[in-house]
Amino acid sequence: VTAGLWADLRGLLGEDALRDPVASPQYLHDATDWQGLRGRADAVVAPASTEEVARLVEWCYARQVAIVPRGGGTGLSGGAVPIDGGLVCSLERLNQVLSFEPELWRLNLQAGVTTDRVHQLARNSGLMFPPDPGAAAQSHIGGNIACNAGGPRGFKYGATRGYVTGLTAVIGGGRIITVGGPTRKDVAGYDICSLMVGSEGTLGVMTEAWLRLIPAPQCTVHVVGCYADVAAGVEAVLRVPGSGLVPATLEYFEGLCVEASRGAFPLSLPPHTRFLVVAEVDGSTAGAAALSTEVVEALEPGAIFAERVEGPGLASSLTRWRSGVSGAVSSIRGGKVSEDIAVPLDRLGEAILMTRAVGVEFGLPSCSWGHAGDGNLHATFMMDKEDRVDVARAGEAAQELFARALALGGSVSGEHGLGWIKQDQFQRQFGPGEVAIMTAIKAVFDPDGLFNPGKKLPDRRGADQSMAAPSPTVVADPARGIGQ
Ligand SMILES: Cc1cc2nc3c(=O)[nH]c(=O)nc-3n(C[C@H](O)[C@H](O)[C@H](O)COP(=O)(O)OP(=O)(O)OC[C@H]3O[C@@H](n4cnc5c(N)ncnc54)[C@H](O)[C@@H]3O)c2cc1C
Repeated sequence: VTAGLWADLRGLLGEDALRDPVASPQYLHDATDWQGLRGRADAVVAPASTEEVARLVEWCYARQVAIVPRGGGTGLSGGAVPIDGGLVCSLERLNQVLSFEPELWRLNLQAGVTTDRVHQLARNSGLMFPPDPGAAAQSHIGGNIACNAGGPRGFKYGATRGYVTGLTAVIGGGRIITVGGPTRKDVAGYDICSLMVGSEGTLGVMTEAWLRLIPAPQCTVHVVGCYADVAAGVEAVLRVPGSGLVPATLEYFEGLCVEASRGAFPLSLPPHTRFLVVAEVDGSTAGAAALSTEVVEALEPGAIFAERVEGPGLASSLTRWRSGVSGAVSSIRGGKVSEDIAVPLDRLGEAILMTRAVGVEFGLPSCSWGHAGDGNLHATFMMDKEDRVDVARAGEAAQELFARALALGGSVSGEHGLGWIKQDQFQRQFGPGEVAIMTAIKAVFDPDGLFNPGKKLPDRRGADQSMAAPSPTVVADPARGIGQ
């Protein structure tokens, strides 16, 4: 950090807002750190109010300095990584709950409040904020909104977008805009609030939000189904929505993923299990019990085992097991590449088999798991991270995977976003017409292209710089793999 820049920023926001990127390298990476992605920032700044963010953005616009918004840094696509200098704008000091009215099921808060705190506040008042991305203790609500974070409960409750009724954000030049608010219905204008959800820090810095909460279910019960192969497992999964049943979660795990994690599964799995379904059913005590019986009935045909499971501490053991699945798969060969593709639900079986086929074609063991009910796979290729040939093959396999996911009518990303890691997929998924509209939208919010340049969509500032190789400050090591 140069003395002049430091003095300028101190004058603008005060000493408390400044973080030295050299002394605090955690601001230079996110959860893709284990993939080796690290950036370089000229400064890290933590404003304490919307007005301070506005002053900072105005300052950046006057000097043509890039701004990288940062929440909890748990993103899995490098979105919060400052790829090539500029300022990291950390929202950590905007961590106040502005109003909480449980009887009206609504919460107004600053963007830097953690997801866990939102869950806790809601729970303590008999309410629920349904989105449940895995790293809730660190992630910010602003980061969840910027990524439209989902999670297992997305099957019944949808992702973050469904729970945001209003946003305050600072856009290009330092203008503060407020879209939506506590009103639950509003169709007076374009739905800018929804547009900003999932924008991955490319349209501005979100500083405040209004969230819609819902009454918490009285109880949750678990159902487990075990199958000998993908065909039987997928048929069972599809029978759940096909029978009009809506469990809160409908997750699957298959092949090597089951093998790698079966030792830690809280119940003993039948030996021939190759495809595992775990569902959470919630509701009133009587309602959840009745629904779980129906879910078991839907999962039973073709199953080796399909039962409602219960026992002391089972829910937390299942959560712990679920969090360990990614690590267990990594440990098979020491590394992996894991991509969060999504396909229409009726193509789930094809997508699972396609992932396996791509693995075979590229000579890599593969497996997948994920949010079955949403057709959202963590499609994974295992590799020896010390073996350059393996690493290169895994990269090529991922490219093939994306192409085939799109051919199935799907998406290259169901929930993690494109960020930096997958920004080269933008033009693969979208045609010229869609690219033109999205580029034009970006230009309205951010005429100088300073918010998170090179993330999500091509960087307009140079001759299509986004398609260029990572800058030398970024050490990309796909051998270390990402995913959940
Ligand atoms: C173990 C693990 C499990 C996970 N499980 C899930 C899962 O189940 N479902 C899921 O969807 N995701 C999951 N994730 C990914 C990640 O946790 C979520 O995407 C989360 O929402 C990111 O929030 P964050 O605050 O950490 O954002 P960051 O990583 O800090 O930033 C993510 C993006 O949002 C932008 N951003 C952050 N704050 C703002 C703001 N205030 N204004 C504008 N832009 C902003 C950043 O620029 C960046 O592009 C998981 C991650 C981990 C590490």
